[in-house]
Amino acid sequence: MLELLFLLLPVVAGYSWFMGRNSIKQNDQSAKQDLSIKYSKGLNYLLSNQQDKAIEYLLETLKVENDSVEAHFAMANLFRRRGELDRALKVHEHLVRHANLPAKDKQHAIFELGKDFLSAGLYDRAEKMFSKLLKSKRFGVKSLTYLLQIYQSTKDWQQGIDLKKVIIKSKDKKLLHSLANFYCELAIQACTKDEFILVIELLEQALTYDANSCRANFLMAEIYEDHQQYNEAAQCYKDIYQQDDDFFLDVIDKIEHCYLALNLQDDFFVFIKQVYDKTGSTSALIKYITYIEQKKGRGKAKEYMLITLKKRPTIRGFKHFIKMQIDEAGQGKQYESLDMMSKLIAAYLKEKPRYSCRNCGFNTSTHYWSCPSCHDWEQIKPVRGLEGE
Ligand SMILES: [Zn+2]
Repeated sequence: MLELLFLLLPVVAGYSWFMGRNSIKQNDQSAKQDLSIKYSKGLNYLLSNQQDKAIEYLLETLKVENDSVEAHFAMANLFRRRGELDRALKVHEHLVRHANLPAKDKQHAIFELGKDFLSAGLYDRAEKMFSKLLKSKRFGVKSLTYLLQIYQSTKDWQQGIDLKKVIIKSKDKKLLHSLANFYCELAIQACTKDEFILVIELLEQALTYDANSCRANFLMAEIYEDHQQYNEAAQCYKDIYQQDDDFFLDVIDKIEHCYLALNLQDDFFVFIKQVYDKTGSTSALIKYITYIEQKKGRGKAKEYMLITLKKRPTIRGFKHFIKMQIDEAGQGKQYESLDMMSKLIAAYLKEKPRYSCRNCGFNTSTHYWSCPSCHDWEQIKPVRGLEGE
């Protein structure tokens, strides 16, 4: 009932405005009478749940003038929020069609119409609306955002890249970040065709538009690694560490592989110690413990592990500590109980998500470049805390 009353507000606002105007123009009695009849009919339709007929009357009654435009937008937005998209569309289309609507209101109506089409899944029509607003000061960046969202849904990466001039001009970091990911998507396509020079070119483009794109560096590192260019690969992985030390935790094994291939094991451990000191991450700790074990023996490694676990306990760290105990337990009851404990912890961790989206909190065991929930790019990163890193 409250919603119904809210729905009536625009009618009342328009009616009051019209009545007020009529009181100044006393000679406009016939319009007043006509309006009263339409108003009453509109109310009757609303009260008898015949909303489509009520809208027809409302649109006729509320002439689109400066004072009533906001009432139209409020009414249409209410319909959209209620999921009544056909009704929202009708009101917005009515505004767009209006010949004398001021330019700013017309742009607003086109923008809202685009959102209606998008909500209805009519991407081509939404695309048309948003494309009309690229030069708009108020709606330009917002329209670009929706356009990239559409091309992301339809995987039409080239269409998004075709907008690069306007995106660059906007200087909007989020849009540039999306543009970089569109280039990464094309790079992946080129990779499946073994067009490696093109892949590197596309990834360089991605980094030109967003120097913080971990994904571009990650893909580039993989290409170099596959071609045994370990120096270049290691440098790309190190760049990821500079860009985002949260995401970097997922590439520790890969960078280790490059350093070992280059016979730079000691350099790797110097580096990983720096990573551990900065991030306190369990993955970095486990790598560093392996080094201590090799250089100073298991006793020292266990000692160091225990001190760090007391300072910053994590379940993965505890699991590794048990593994170290198992390795020296030999056979017997102690081995069996440690082994069972290790298996129980492994089963527990298997149930826990490895990644979470930093933007919306979506949890997953699989890594995605675009969050399946909020569709933001490069926000899925290893979980931190007791059950994570
Ligand atoms: Zn998300």
